[in-house]
Amino acid sequence: FKKMDVSSKNTDELTQMRITFNQMIDLLKDNFDKQQQFVSDASHELKTPLTVIESYSTLLKRWGKKDPAILDEAVEAIYSEALRMRGMTQQMLDLAQGDQYPIQPLTELNATEITQEAAERLSRSFNRDIHFVAKEPISFLGQEDLFKQLLFILIENAIKYSKKDIVIRLYTNQKSLTLEIEDKGIGIPENEQTAIFERFYRVSEDRNRESGGSGLGLSIAKKIVEQFEGTIHVQSKIGVGSTFIVNIPLRPFKEVSLHD
Ligand code: ADP
Repeated sequence: FKKMDVSSKNTDELTQMRITFNQMIDLLKDNFDKQQQFVSDASHELKTPLTVIESYSTLLKRWGKKDPAILDEAVEAIYSEALRMRGMTQQMLDLAQGDQYPIQPLTELNATEITQEAAERLSRSFNRDIHFVAKEPISFLGQEDLFKQLLFILIENAIKYSKKDIVIRLYTNQKSLTLEIEDKGIGIPENEQTAIFERFYRVSEDRNRESGGSGLGLSIAKKIVEQFEGTIHVQSKIGVGSTFIVNIPLRPFKEVSLHD
């Protein structure tokens, strides 16, 4: 009887240890997955500000001394893209030290101004015509860096997957704002128009080989839109083009969660 008691105690303790150990592994794995995800997302996202800084530096070298307007534009672009990169790298460092995803405060954003600036910057950097259409100034409550990131991802994709001009539209029906990014590029097969928003999903190796993407951009875009309590989808036809449509409610976040 005594021996059984000991062994059952041992078994209990072993079971307990196994449970605790598994919980520890789950916790570590969860942290590791989050860090891994953030590091891959951040490396993907650091590429665009670098491209902008590179191309504006070239512009500055070539025309900066002769044209004060270009000097101002380039210095402003390089400075603000460098700040954006600093923010991203700081987030990576915070996360590497075990902190949670940093939550940035919400502020009133001028969507029209930010969209126009992103369009101009990418148009310059990638040497492509981008038309921006907006009738009125539109503001909403959000995080500026995230909204910029969203714009950069969608515009950069439009540039990557088409050769013609790109049209960006921004409008509102008072309840929500709508952002449309339209290209006349290669298009996306109908049966893949949902899957493209998953992490690492790419339409086909063949057509992507040249563009060298990672399948991360749209999953990051979706995460950002969800943070704004909005939706994103695409309308697209092979060989005709794609329009990515983002809808963001124009209400303060607290109100949204109260009603939910
Ligand atoms: P990637 O780094 O591969 O571009 P994304 O997550 O940004 O990753 O996009 C996922 C896939 O969706 C891409 O591989 C591409 O095939 C397709 N895609 C995204 N944007 C467009 C677009 N504007 N036109 C055509 N295909 C697109």
